[in-house]
Amino acid sequence: MRIVLLGAPGSGKGTQAKLLVEKYKIPQISTGDLLRAAVSAGTELGKKAKAAMDAGQLVTDDIVLGIIQERLSKPDAKSGFILDGFPRNIPQAQALDAMLARLGQPLQLALLVDVDSEVLMKRLTGRRTCSQCGAIYNVYFSPSKSSGKCDKCGGSLMQRSDDNEETVRNRLRVYEEQTAPLVSYYKAQGKLRTVRGVGSINDIFKNITDIIEAQIRPLAAVMAQGAAMGAKGRAAPAKAPAKPAAKPAPKPAAKASASKAAAPKKAAKKAPKKAAAKAVKKKAPKKAAKKAPKAKSKARAKPKKTK
Ligand SMILES: [Zn+2]
Repeated sequence: MRIVLLGAPGSGKGTQAKLLVEKYKIPQISTGDLLRAAVSAGTELGKKAKAAMDAGQLVTDDIVLGIIQERLSKPDAKSGFILDGFPRNIPQAQALDAMLARLGQPLQLALLVDVDSEVLMKRLTGRRTCSQCGAIYNVYFSPSKSSGKCDKCGGSLMQRSDDNEETVRNRLRVYEEQTAPLVSYYKAQGKLRTVRGVGSINDIFKNITDIIEAQIRPLAAVMAQGAAMGAKGRAAPAKAPAKPAAKPAPKPAAKASASKAAAPKKAAKKAPKKAAAKAVKKKAPKKAAKKAPKAKSKARAKPKKTK
């Protein structure tokens, strides 16, 4: 299964990613880790990345995508992957789609772990770490018994410098700005699913696996069926099964429902039979049939009132 994980800092998506790795035996691909590994291994792309970083520049999308592609070619990624931390914007998402299409391995699911921003604020700003043993507390959700002291070793509890309110608010704002367009992007492809990231870790994970079973398993079945049918009719190319998933799903319902909502109003205003008759002549029979009854019922309703 091929998944992109979306979620704010503090959403717990990292924890869920680890559970997914265990359950489905697929690697979690974090671009930060990959970059560091490529640089220290001194691969071609790693050298390019290092040159960019040494020059104080951002590592280009081409390099990052190249490193991801290399990672995907390893045997453990054969049955899928979980992408975490990439893409962060629409151009990256498009480039990723193009690369995965070339590999015949399109994304199947973009999973958003959704948590209200006020909860995220408390999770992040409330975090305290023991300076002695590294135990983690949260002043809102899991405080130590004695304020500022570790339950386990009595060490003093520290707040990370980037967990202060202003920095956290800024990180969350940046996340929101980056992720909102991605959410729309994957929604338009019909690949977005959202899970609420509150409650117990196990409950959230259960919801995630339910989504995966519903979204990916049936799709795999349909794809296998399609391949079988293709094999019957004519020799199906090996790539065929990947195609259905690559096709972007129909656009979200927003437009359709908007035009539906608008249509009855117009029809009602023009209610007289002439207009309806014209519509029947001009427009396709299907649409006319839908509109006509509504216009009629309105027209009938009015005379009753005047009685
Ligand atoms: Zn401690």
